[in-house]
Amino acid sequence: MTPGVHRMKLGAMEVIALSDGHLDFAPENLRFDPEAARALLVGSTAGYPPRIGVNCFVLRTAGRCALVDTGAGDSMGASLGALPGRLAAAGIDQGEIDTVLLTHIHPDHSNGLATAKGAARFAGAELVVHADDIAFWCDPAKQAEGPEPLQQRRAMAVRQTGAYADRLRPFAAEAEVFPGVTALPHPGHTPGHSGYLLASEGETLMIWGDTVHIAAVQVPHPEATVAFDIDPQAAVASRRRMFDRVATDGLAVLGMHLGFPGLARLERSGDGYRLVAG
Ligand SMILES: [Zn+2]
Repeated sequence: MTPGVHRMKLGAMEVIALSDGHLDFAPENLRFDPEAARALLVGSTAGYPPRIGVNCFVLRTAGRCALVDTGAGDSMGASLGALPGRLAAAGIDQGEIDTVLLTHIHPDHSNGLATAKGAARFAGAELVVHADDIAFWCDPAKQAEGPEPLQQRRAMAVRQTGAYADRLRPFAAEAEVFPGVTALPHPGHTPGHSGYLLASEGETLMIWGDTVHIAAVQVPHPEATVAFDIDPQAAVASRRRMFDRVATDGLAVLGMHLGFPGLARLERSGDGYRLVAG
């Protein structure tokens, strides 16, 4: 067992969870009754104030290798940015990664794309991301729009994705974007936020991205949003749609902010849901 590295099999596909580290989530960034949130979090695995993991996933299939999300790089302090070390510990050469799939553009998911000098960290990889995230974060005409934190995130997005400008492969609708991997747009958290459905030899697994940030609150209460949701109403609708699908189909999920390795299942419980071990 290597810390922060967890290997799984899905049919003929190898799925390797890699921890980029963790972040402390300020409770005021949760849009939910503060006392009720506190009561749900105290005693949960996240604790109070909540500390959540940041997970990335490597997919190996048919001689190909994809990385789903890149962690925070060196942009969010020492508790994050572990991905390059985890890849090495798992015996994965960065040059082996031929595709980077992003669930969305946000610092903890996309700031590991480029090196400190602005070069592509995954030099042989195409970058796959929903076109609406490219349009929202990377349009030069929008760089000065919105409040200061949004402008800062836009500047980071331009810098990170710019290193891949000549091998950017955006998608705009549900589509197979890698062998056995279908992109599923679930907009709201960001305009192009997407899950990825993995399928191999009849087995399936859903990478649900940031469908959930704070599981102890948002699983029983899908209406709870976070300050970073660009369109909170759409984020709730996407969360409900994703919850309904994975609960109905009995799909195991991998979440970027579920406790490492991020694997779980969802069951209906009263008006809401509950997470069970994957
Ligand atoms: Zn996130």
